[in-house]
Amino acid sequence: MDRLCLRFAAELRFFLAPRHRGGAARVGHDGTSSLGHVVESLKVPLTEVGALRVDGRPVAPSHRPRGGETVDVLAVRRPQEVPFPVPRFVLDVHLGALARRLRLVGVDSAYRNDMDDDALVAQANAEQRVLLTKDRRLLHRRRLQAGAYVRGAHPDRQLDDVLERFAPPLAPWSRCTACNGAIVPVSKDDVADRLEPGTRADYDTFAQCRSCGRIYWPGAHHRRLAAVVAVAREAVARSGCEQP
Ligand SMILES: [Zn+2]
Repeated sequence: MDRLCLRFAAELRFFLAPRHRGGAARVGHDGTSSLGHVVESLKVPLTEVGALRVDGRPVAPSHRPRGGETVDVLAVRRPQEVPFPVPRFVLDVHLGALARRLRLVGVDSAYRNDMDDDALVAQANAEQRVLLTKDRRLLHRRRLQAGAYVRGAHPDRQLDDVLERFAPPLAPWSRCTACNGAIVPVSKDDVADRLEPGTRADYDTFAQCRSCGRIYWPGAHHRRLAAVVAVAREAVARSGCEQP
């Protein structure tokens, strides 16, 4: 059987089996599989791969490699273009904390804790959303149009990763963290009957979700949330796309 040498960019190496973590994989090739298939067989989702180069020449994932070729597998460039008009997302069931942070900074992020894999892929495609997940098997789904592996264990680090990767437009405090609906300013009189007496006494500025009716005000958590927003703005700025 012919052999191929694949060299992986540093950002992709953690996907590889331990014996390939040095970045180079020498693999047998049957002469018929596409290069994309060979990359996926090494456990690297194609959603994470940018350019592929064979002996220095750019090729598509459909390229059928020949024995003796050396393939460079690069990571996606950041910020990454999405195949949709705006970067928006659907998150798998394990990423609820990340979903709330993305909504806090105004990024359209669908999330429910009861979606199975088929439903997630269907929603991503139907609504032109990038599927965010830490489950790489989900990213290998043939039908999925756009997906991304989320790096980082802590939701703050995950937020950084998504913002740096996609540089979505930010609109802090415009989206309901509970349901992703739009929140709009409301007068205190309009919501007074739904407020606890302490809140009614201490605050004058309110907003309400158009979808679920939840009421927002700059309360006890505001300083912590404002810090998340500030860090998010820095992450997008680092990606090279300054916010207006
Ligand atoms: Zn809501």
